Amino acid sequence: MTGRWLRISVTLASAALVIPGIGLAAPAVAAPAVAYRTMHCSAGAHTLAPPGSHLYPDTGNGGYTSLHTLVHLVYDATANEFLPGNRVVLTERATQCLSSFSLDFERKSGNTTAGPDMTMRSVTVNGRAARFTFVQPTYPGDPHGQNDPNPAAHEASQVNPVGGPEHNPLPPACSPELPNTKTPPDALDGTQCPASKLVITPSAPVPGGSVFTVSVSYTGRPGVHNDGDGTTEGWFRAPDGGFVTTEPVGSEDWMPLNDYPAAKPTYGFSDTVNAGKTVLANGVLVSVRRNPASAEFPGGSVTWTWHSPAPVASYLVEDSVGNYHLTERLADNGTRYYEAQDAAIPADRQRKNLAIMNQQQNITEFESQFNGTYPFTSDGVVVGTPSASFEEEMQTMITFAGGFIDTGVLYHENMHQWWGDNVTEDNYTMTFYKEGMATLAEELYAARLAEDKAGGPYSPKGQAAFQATLVKQFNQIYASNGSFWTAAPSNPKPFGLFSGSATYARPSAAYIALRQILGHGNFTRALQQVQAAYGGHSITEAQWEAAFGKWLPVQTSACRARLSQFFKQWFDTAYPAGGGQNRPQISGPGLDGPDFYNAHGGCS
Ligand SMILES: [Zn+2]
Repeated sequence: MTGRWLRISVTLASAALVIPGIGLAAPAVAAPAVAYRTMHCSAGAHTLAPPGSHLYPDTGNGGYTSLHTLVHLVYDATANEFLPGNRVVLTERATQCLSSFSLDFERKSGNTTAGPDMTMRSVTVNGRAARFTFVQPTYPGDPHGQNDPNPAAHEASQVNPVGGPEHNPLPPACSPELPNTKTPPDALDGTQCPASKLVITPSAPVPGGSVFTVSVSYTGRPGVHNDGDGTTEGWFRAPDGGFVTTEPVGSEDWMPLNDYPAAKPTYGFSDTVNAGKTVLANGVLVSVRRNPASAEFPGGSVTWTWHSPAPVASYLVEDSVGNYHLTERLADNGTRYYEAQDAAIPADRQRKNLAIMNQQQNITEFESQFNGTYPFTSDGVVVGTPSASFEEEMQTMITFAGGFIDTGVLYHENMHQWWGDNVTEDNYTMTFYKEGMATLAEELYAARLAEDKAGGPYSPKGQAAFQATLVKQFNQIYASNGSFWTAAPSNPKPFGLFSGSATYARPSAAYIALRQILGHGNFTRALQQVQAAYGGHSITEAQWEAAFGKWLPVQTSACRARLSQFFKQWFDTAYPAGGGQNRPQISGPGLDGPDFYNAHGGCS
């Protein structure tokens, strides 16, 4: 398919570039007219994590649903500072009468070089000044309540699922964190959780069911979050601005939000930055407006407006600023493709990157054969210069760090647009669900290369090569030994969440097996039905497994029971080291390992 390239640049002579037909969502906010005294009002929960959580137990906030967030950055890219006027406006719907409620906002960090150092200016609720304070989290389910002053409950751990120093039996209260990337990773086991819960008390309670807006103004330096595995994520300083890549929790290091994967408001961005800079965000570019010189921006400024009509999970919000060269192309199926590279990347490297970036539409169409229609109105890639240690599936604007893009990784991140982005994991323990699907995309890419070599997708030899390559990859993974099977995908430790075989290769092999068990057509139908049923929302492990169960070709109670055994073995079991008998003992037709079906095609 071909399309039209439109070059967008802040050097445009005209004052504004407006793409018509796209309006900014501006939810109406009605002033509550309710007699508060008759209502039972209480504080919203300071976490959305279930009791006993040891993965980011401090994140998310209850008592309301996040509907829409307008990000209104006023950012000096030279100084790497948010200036006065910088704010976010969050539109929420109360699910109870709220005397107070909270947001996640790590405005200060022990990491004094790359961490955030921001200052709160003011908070309003429905336009009226509100009181605010920062508190430490308590562990979910703390019998003494979420204001428990017991400091023993406030300890972080890197590798131990219980909190703090070895013998503390209490669950941890916050995400594992290090002020630097020193090893060993548990050197600071037992550190107090930072006070990153921003608790807001409105001048009058917010009635249950009402829609309300919260405006938080703040200034200062955004930064990165130090994570339990020694990596950082969030707002990376680039020589020409900031590069935003944030999984799993780093969004709160540059803006206050309901920082939980299942909280998915729609987003608008209206960012004012130094003249000459480019802003990249989720969704579609609405306008670029040049502003005259001001006290904050003596050289003039430019306001970039983006809009995401689709909900965006907390860790997928993109808002990078720098000397990016941005192009936009409208494909003939109506999807907009954005490509951006930092101008500091050497020209030769940029050319090589571009050749890979230009494949995104083709990759999207290939992946659509399995997942169904691409879920968003735009897609894109940004290649930045900071050496963030990962690439990320930011919704409709995939980030590549270090000035470099890789084709296999683009298959992976683009697959996430369906799995993780459109249908989001309900909680961090479900990370394996979407990483397994994205790893499957890399395996499908290898199969596609073999298919092309053997005669292409319309030749029997090509199709046989495609299938044989998937089988080979399953068998290679299934032959793994050592510690490969020792962690249960659905019960990850903070330290290995984004590095272990349990998150990536093991669930991807389970999906190849499922494709054999269900049949290729049924596997695809199951995936497409999940997209239709859960798109724009999140999914639990039980819902994910039930979706495959519906498409099991042999609907006997024995086969349904065997399928739940299959999921238990592949997703929920930690085996002793070694492989062999210490690994799942249910495979699929044509694959190594005990077959799902018996000789008669049944399951008994
Ligand atoms: Zn991934």
